[in-house]
Amino acid sequence: STAPPTTALSDHFARSLPELALAWRADEVPDPRLLALNEPLAAELGLDPGWLRGPEGVRLLVGNHLPDGAAPVAQAYAGHQFGHYSPRLGDGRALLLGELTHADGHLRDLHLKGSGRTPFSRGGDGLAAVGPMVREYVVSEAMHALGIPTTRSLAVVATGRSVRREALLPGAVLARVARSHLRVGSFQYARATDDVDLLRRLADHAIARHHPGAAEADNPHLALFEAVVAAQASLVARWMLAGFVHGVMNTDNMTISGETIDYGPCAFMDAYDPATVYSSIDEGGRYAYGNQPLVAEWNLARLAEALLPLFADDQERAVEVAVEALGAFRPQYDAAWSAGARAKLGLSGADDDAVVTPLVEDLLVLLRDGHVDHTSFHRRLGAAARGNTEPARELFLDLAAIDAWLARWRALGPDGDAMDRVNPAYVPRNHLVEEALTAVTGGDTGPLERLLDAVTSPYDERPGLERYAAPAPADFGATYQTFCGT
Ligand code: AMP
Ligand code: MG
Ligand code: MG
Repeated sequence: STAPPTTALSDHFARSLPELALAWRADEVPDPRLLALNEPLAAELGLDPGWLRGPEGVRLLVGNHLPDGAAPVAQAYAGHQFGHYSPRLGDGRALLLGELTHADGHLRDLHLKGSGRTPFSRGGDGLAAVGPMVREYVVSEAMHALGIPTTRSLAVVATGRSVRREALLPGAVLARVARSHLRVGSFQYARATDDVDLLRRLADHAIARHHPGAAEADNPHLALFEAVVAAQASLVARWMLAGFVHGVMNTDNMTISGETIDYGPCAFMDAYDPATVYSSIDEGGRYAYGNQPLVAEWNLARLAEALLPLFADDQERAVEVAVEALGAFRPQYDAAWSAGARAKLGLSGADDDAVVTPLVEDLLVLLRDGHVDHTSFHRRLGAAARGNTEPARELFLDLAAIDAWLARWRALGPDGDAMDRVNPAYVPRNHLVEEALTAVTGGDTGPLERLLDAVTSPYDERPGLERYAAPAPADFGATYQTFCGT
């Protein structure tokens, strides 16, 4: 098909916030080849999948064909990386092509990752390898299917150019779709310019785009902050309940919309352990699984600092209201996590905190001490609620301990069918992701397609997909590492 896209791109962000937008073009890609296309998402965006598969469509997906209205920009932002502030990060290997209107009526950014150097590249090559872009595609689409707010992946296109890492690797461009790319680091950048008018326009832009209810409040910019606190408390609780480890929760990787963003060294935890770290560069364990709520709160404190001039004219008063608003994070996170943990155990109806709270806490100790697979245990517990305890039991060595726990739990009357709607059978397990990435890097997209089929319907257990529901082989998990910026 050679029909043009039905929807033109807008340049809403670039026009509203020119100080944060640097006009730039993607590298010319000599030999683009589509590795993955998200047809349902394309349709939701008003893009014809058939056209996207054709030569002009594939060129759009790498930024070489610009539809009407497109004015691609590299976005400026700052950020704390592992606690250290960088005043100028920005899109060093990414571009915002523009915005599309989704079928839900809201704007979406169409964004490229791996599209070449920009003025923000510093020492980097501006490029991305096939493996990490496919990892983002798989994990973000799995997160979406789990119901966890996230940026989406529209396509991965192999460029035909190689990228120098430890070895020469095939290069790729990811086409990403997001409610926006506004992040804590965008506000840190605006704040550092000392241009309060820019900061105010950025905050108003964020309110209009993501948290329109804040506009009605007495103090709209404080209400914006409160809305981001609430969105992040809910998001990080969802990560924790799913066993998701983001891996690089720098302030430039935390959105204002409340979507998960920037899938670098991320992974789903296999054996339950709060100390779990997969990222090769996270030597201190700052972004360990169990630290994520604390880090989110720390990042939100950085957002509050950036917004202070907008909270009140009197800066002492501004600090006071910011501290109070940030104080909502812990109770909101705790409430979201506790409700989710109960649902995972089929106990949403149980209201006796004095019984349920220690039951949940004792389970976490059993899972950690027994190195039990987090996803498999919860899924198998649904069968245990229906009377088949053996699949869950066999994950433990200490049978006396799990039997005692199961007896306490079953006495509360758990609802196994409700559990199957919140405990996924399929997540992108590390060994399966590695298998798919290795194959696609070698030119075989079969394992990727089968993995996507499993993880995009995660609650619907199907015959033939048993290996996608099984824990990692015993020799896999202990030394597994993921890599950043590759
Ligand atoms: P990230 O860790 O992916 O969030 O990236 C942090 C910063 O490094 C951002 O400013 C990125 O644009 C930049 N960056 C990461 N990889 C590259 C690369 N290969 N070339 C240029 N800039 C990069
Ligand atoms: Mg980033
Ligand atoms: Mg990254």
